[in-house]
Amino acid sequence: MQRILITGGAGFLGSHLCERLLEQGHEVLCVDNFYTGRRQNVAHLVDNPRFELMRHDVTFPLYVEVDAIYNLACPASPVHYQFDPVQTTKTSVHGAINMLGLAKRVRARILQASTSEVYGDPEVHPQREEYWGRVNPIGPRSCYDEGKRCAETLFFDYFRQHALDIKVARIFNTYGPRMHPNDGRVVSNFIVQALQGKDITIFGDGNQTRSFCYVDDLIEAMIRLMGTEKGFTGPVNIGNPGEFTIRQLAELVIELTGAKSKLISMPLPTDDPKQRQPDIGLARSKLQWEPKVPLVEGLKRTIAYFAALLK
Ligand code: NAD
Ligand code: UDP
Ligand code: UDP
Repeated sequence: MQRILITGGAGFLGSHLCERLLEQGHEVLCVDNFYTGRRQNVAHLVDNPRFELMRHDVTFPLYVEVDAIYNLACPASPVHYQFDPVQTTKTSVHGAINMLGLAKRVRARILQASTSEVYGDPEVHPQREEYWGRVNPIGPRSCYDEGKRCAETLFFDYFRQHALDIKVARIFNTYGPRMHPNDGRVVSNFIVQALQGKDITIFGDGNQTRSFCYVDDLIEAMIRLMGTEKGFTGPVNIGNPGEFTIRQLAELVIELTGAKSKLISMPLPTDDPKQRQPDIGLARSKLQWEPKVPLVEGLKRTIAYFAALLK
């Protein structure tokens, strides 16, 4: 049994991770400032004596005693991370410094939830870990992309300078139950719009692509990465290589919900990446992992969640 700190633990991915680590018998300290996360995501865990929920902003120092840290704190949806971009950069950069400082003091293993956004709008396809990316440093997405890139830099400098035991996961678009209904990301937007009989908002021509990973698959990979030997740092791409256009996703959601929604066009946000697909060769060989849940199956489960929530 380990004492594990999860920052951003009341968010979408964090809440699933808390649940899985508790199931494995660990003690979980969930730290969150509830910026995009919700208490109700972890409400079913608070009676567990091995679970503790703490309101705290990771841009401020945190002194606790733990064996391992998963650093997930950061708004992930473009709508939310662009709402207060300075706070987004602070969360990624100051948050990483504080969590790395904590890991250094208590000699804890620490995993960073990084992102496919470090590849920006890529000119290499699919994206492998060796690719350095094509990121605009001064655009509206930069607070997130550059914040996450700087966090990776900090992780690798603490690894080289202080021999810290780090792991970096580059997470590609992940979806599933407990996404916030107003999260703003494409899967939750389309499902909520379809279930409410509203038009489905396609940004741009809808030919841009994304690769969607179901949350259970993602959590399994993160836990496996955390379990690799000391010295294996990653970065490791984690995602589902199945690549779909946004229009295909909209059509699938309409089909699975039986909605009568129309597709309507909205302006494409600035610097919206045109295509994204992970090369998961490293995750396959190193973690003996690959995603198991196909998009149709994962969408069905996510639709069922939102249908119950919106009732
Ligand atoms: P989310 O918005 O649901 O969760 C983020 C959590 O962090 C929320 O609970 C929020 O309240 C908390 N938080 C934000 N700022 C904080 C701060 N300063 N101090 C403490 N807590 C803070 O998003 P998610 O999808 O669960 O993403 C979790 C992590 O995974 C993020 O770091 C995100 O960048 C990364 N990620 C997610 C995806 C994805 O598709 N879901 C893809 C790539 C990377
Ligand atoms: N820190 C923290 N918890 C700890 C130890 C450190 O939040 O248990 C913070 C501390 O505030 C510091 C940061 O982590 O600003 C980086 O710590 P480190 O020891 O690497 O650097 P230094 O303290 O020398 O700036
Ligand atoms: N998107 C869309 N309609 C929406 C929300 C998003 O067409 O209501 C598009 C968005 O422009 C992008 C893709 O879907 O091309 C994925 O967007 P999301 O915000 O989920 O994630 P990210 O752009 O960070 O991958």
